[in-house]
Amino acid sequence: MRKSTFLKLKVREAAFISKALLSTNHVVLAHIIPMRRCNLACGYCNEYDHNSKPVPLDVMKRRIDKLAEFNTSIVTISGGEPMMHPQLDDIIRHIRSHGIIAGLISNGYYFTPDRIKRLNKAGLDALQISIDNVEPDEVSRKSLRVLDKKLRYLAEHADFHININSVIGGGIKNPDDALTVAKRAVELGFSTTVGVIHDEDGLLKPLTEKEKQIFHAVKKLGNKDHARLNWFQDSIAEGKPYEWRCRSGSRYLYICEDGKVHWCSQQRGFPGIPLEEYTMEDFKREYKTEKWCAPTCTIQCVHQVGILDNWRDPQMSPAQLRKEQKQKEAERVVQILRPQ
Ligand code: SF4
Ligand code: SF4
Repeated sequence: MRKSTFLKLKVREAAFISKALLSTNHVVLAHIIPMRRCNLACGYCNEYDHNSKPVPLDVMKRRIDKLAEFNTSIVTISGGEPMMHPQLDDIIRHIRSHGIIAGLISNGYYFTPDRIKRLNKAGLDALQISIDNVEPDEVSRKSLRVLDKKLRYLAEHADFHININSVIGGGIKNPDDALTVAKRAVELGFSTTVGVIHDEDGLLKPLTEKEKQIFHAVKKLGNKDHARLNWFQDSIAEGKPYEWRCRSGSRYLYICEDGKVHWCSQQRGFPGIPLEEYTMEDFKREYKTEKWCAPTCTIQCVHQVGILDNWRDPQMSPAQLRKEQKQKEAERVVQILRPQ
């Protein structure tokens, strides 16, 4: 990434952080899915299929326009594999036309020098690739050996920020792989993060001593800003629940390929309202709603958004919120009936 572009991105990031700290009335980060289809089939993944069609460009543009109405700061395109969408560059251009920061999450397979240059032209700001292991195995082919050539292309041609995420825990066979991946990322000039994952039953288990050592070594190598924002991982690494306020459905939105708003990729169906019908009333309700899955959640980006508001506005369980709503309605009825 060129130094001037990097500095411009840093200025825009600083501006969105101050805006997010000053006001709670807008979306900080939205993930949108233009393509559920994926070229891979990772063993732990529940976010892909092998046959769905790309969401048409005009539909994606309408969704982005609606996110702009919510004054969204960052839109990250995810999947499936979004690089399979034939009009990905137009989607990125449309995000940037609203002054929104455009991010992309990809498995890295489709990067060629020409493709990277077209993403530069479209105005992509940031890319994240997750690499699960060094050698491909039956669980994952997001492997350093397969992707190293693509990473070299990116180091040479990309004019956008690149973060390489490695993973640890959840029965990943060789924990050392996370450190090998992180070292390679740093060598190529990328930032790096590490994700702690649950075991295959979705249970929170402490990392083994060896995994913990590697986890801390990778964190040390990584992006200092991310490390500061990812304190929750230290509790998760110890297998302990973490207390925080998840603002999904409000400051963070996950928009699936059908255009519905969900809390996140792992809690689809809540609230499950079409984006075009989503209102500030929904936004405010979800901001206040306590998420039952929060104590063991490992989704880094939603934690980072949550930190912006963690110090303000306590949340309530859905039952408490309903009770508060009923109380307000009763007070309104009393006011209406009161003799003037
Ligand atoms: S590459 Fe990503 S979307 Fe595709 S199967 Fe693997 S984890 Fe899922
Ligand atoms: S706590 Fe985590 S899993 Fe639960 S809704 Fe928030 S982001 Fe999703």
